[in-house]
Amino acid sequence: MKPKNKKDKLYLAREVYNRLKRINLRRRTRYTSKIVKSSNDIYRMLIATILSQNTNDKNSIDAYRNLEKKIGVEIENINRAGEKDIAESILVAGLYNVKAKKIKEVTKILLERYGGDMEKLLEGEEGEARRRLLELPGVGYKTADIILLFTGRKAFPVDTHITRITRRLSLVSEKGSYEEISRVWMEALDPDDYEDAHLQLIAFGRKVCLARKPRCSDCPLNDLCEYYKSGGYG
Ligand code: SF4
Repeated sequence: MKPKNKKDKLYLAREVYNRLKRINLRRRTRYTSKIVKSSNDIYRMLIATILSQNTNDKNSIDAYRNLEKKIGVEIENINRAGEKDIAESILVAGLYNVKAKKIKEVTKILLERYGGDMEKLLEGEEGEARRRLLELPGVGYKTADIILLFTGRKAFPVDTHITRITRRLSLVSEKGSYEEISRVWMEALDPDDYEDAHLQLIAFGRKVCLARKPRCSDCPLNDLCEYYKSGGYG
């Protein structure tokens, strides 16, 4: 049933997450965010996330590893490296010239504005840190929220899979914005579950709730799904 009010929406979002947790599709899934988190270094997180824009995780992980091997993903190394060399190291990520330019620009600003001290970038409460992140070239809502989430702040990054699933489930309207989608999950879930829910939703979008032909008849959420009830896919 289409959720009628906020209370229904939050209940539905929690039920969705509980079911996704049970089927746990995030096992054996490659995520750029695993690199992001394991690096435990804000600058590396930022570069890995820029590389992941508009490409799949396999390509962005390969590009990151290649950049690490050829140049080293450290602020001083990237600052010294030529834009062309960076682009050549990240070919597999796609849009390599654009990404190399963003990486150089963001590195320059981080050195000029924060002396390369990434902790300063994230100082203060979430809202302030998010605003500073969003001022950087190549950093949009999703990138900022990934950095915040994987540095232990309260944030719920939204990618294309999460957008599609949230809209299909009528947790937001068909044109629900990034901020609305992020907010519904943040309000429904415990902050300790944000990271897992973010990854479970992405895995579910890759494996079940596909963009073109979602596997609705096998979907464990089909009794909750407005899209399925209104025609959906078999
Ligand atoms: S029923 Fe279909 S559209 Fe709805 S969540 Fe499942 S796969 Fe996605």
